Amino acid sequence: MLPSFFESVLQLIVRTSTDLPPDVRAAMKTALDAEPAATRSAQALTIIAQNIDLAADAEGAICQDTGMPTFEVHVPIGANQVWMRQQIREAVKEATRRGKLRPNSVDSITGKNSGDNLGPGTPIIHFDQWERDEIEVKLILKGGGCENTNAQYAVPVELAHLGRADRTLEGVKKCILHAVWNAQGKGCAPGAVGVCIGGDRTSGYTHAKEQLFRTLDDVNPDPRLAELEASIMATVNNLEIGAMGFGGKVTLIGCKIGALNRLPASFFVSVAYDCWAFRRLGVVLNASSGAIERWLYRDPSHPIIPMLDQAGFTRTGREVALRAPLSEAQVRSLHVGDVVLISGRMFTGRDAVHSHLMKHEPPVDLRGSVLYHCGPVVVKEGEMWRITAAGPTTSIREEPYQGEVIARYGVRAVIGKGGMGAKTLSALKEHGAVYLNAIGGAAQFYARTIERVDGVSLLDFGTPEAMWHLTVNEFPAIVTMDAHGNSLHKDVEQESGEHLAAIGG
Ligand code: SF4
Repeated sequence: MLPSFFESVLQLIVRTSTDLPPDVRAAMKTALDAEPAATRSAQALTIIAQNIDLAADAEGAICQDTGMPTFEVHVPIGANQVWMRQQIREAVKEATRRGKLRPNSVDSITGKNSGDNLGPGTPIIHFDQWERDEIEVKLILKGGGCENTNAQYAVPVELAHLGRADRTLEGVKKCILHAVWNAQGKGCAPGAVGVCIGGDRTSGYTHAKEQLFRTLDDVNPDPRLAELEASIMATVNNLEIGAMGFGGKVTLIGCKIGALNRLPASFFVSVAYDCWAFRRLGVVLNASSGAIERWLYRDPSHPIIPMLDQAGFTRTGREVALRAPLSEAQVRSLHVGDVVLISGRMFTGRDAVHSHLMKHEPPVDLRGSVLYHCGPVVVKEGEMWRITAAGPTTSIREEPYQGEVIARYGVRAVIGKGGMGAKTLSALKEHGAVYLNAIGGAAQFYARTIERVDGVSLLDFGTPEAMWHLTVNEFPAIVTMDAHGNSLHKDVEQESGEHLAAIGG
């Protein structure tokens, strides 16, 4: 067998999870340079850039949602794919044990986390044979927040702000613009999209995701698709959704389009949205030893160029310092746009916790509390827990529960990303609470604001879903929904909808 195969795949996983490829770094640097200093988008991008540097320096996960591992493997004819699949699974398990991947594989019926990222359908491994005497392994780690913003259109279709999308390239363009608009900040913009025109529902999504293995700066070999990609990139940033949906100049960093033949009766446009934490790398392995012969997408002989040549998130002096627990008067004094620095006690809670709170009393007193939508990466060191990655998760999933949780238990601040809906907005106003947007994916940055883990409740739900009791110091976030009925998310969605109509209608 190939003595170095396991180690090579493990290196690939660790590097992919912790170090963004140079083409993505370059695109994010361009985005950072495009935003005027001191705007909300610029602040968000600065934190993102700092997070990218921290992750690479410390070999820590760039984002706490280490995503669905998807491997594309090319092997010489006659290679033992059964053995390789087993080795890849073992490497995923080992990377999880080392805290480089969060345990992300959950039984869809019981909700139980397997704890090692293995389970039916996880990880995804596709094999193809080729006539070369070497093995190629490519890996993409795509998180749930951006996966949830994927979209598939059966054309012709009527689209909000755009009217009818026909079975033409103009119609395809409308679908892509609509998907980006619809994602807003929920997929941790600025993102990139892989698109498939045609195929069936299954192959369309697969081929769309495959487009994300292209580099952001390549040119489509099909001139018709190259023109469409260029046309999207020339106009899409006029949507002004900006980083995290805060409004801003850069919404998309890449658009890659492929096409598959289709049945005459079907015309699907499938859009795979990936976030700024666009983790994709590859290796070419020696077919006899499995050792790495070269890397794809990166050149290890080139030093990593830091994203930031300055201090990172810098204060303006206008930040509001808050110490939890919070009073009603404190949160009612906040307004959309305020930047807050939170210190003191914070509890994490995401899907399983919110569902639990509908039927059970909370395991801790939540009056005046700060509830953080976060599923951290946690490692146990002796009897102590340490959080190694802790960015926010997409809050809208908690919309059915959040208003009631605020009303019943006296939560004063909810932190997450992407914003929440009308029910939560009304609960914030009625009961005196705020929604704070943290920077999605900035897992390393936020992990460093955690002074200690004081305890944990509901650990049966698995480490990402448990309720962690944290003490934080100067955790920065932006008020995007306040107790006066204002929502930045609602405003940006409305304004970008008007831009969408102007661009593509
Ligand atoms: S950056 Fe955002 S969308 Fe991407 S994996 Fe992390 S939390 Fe999910």
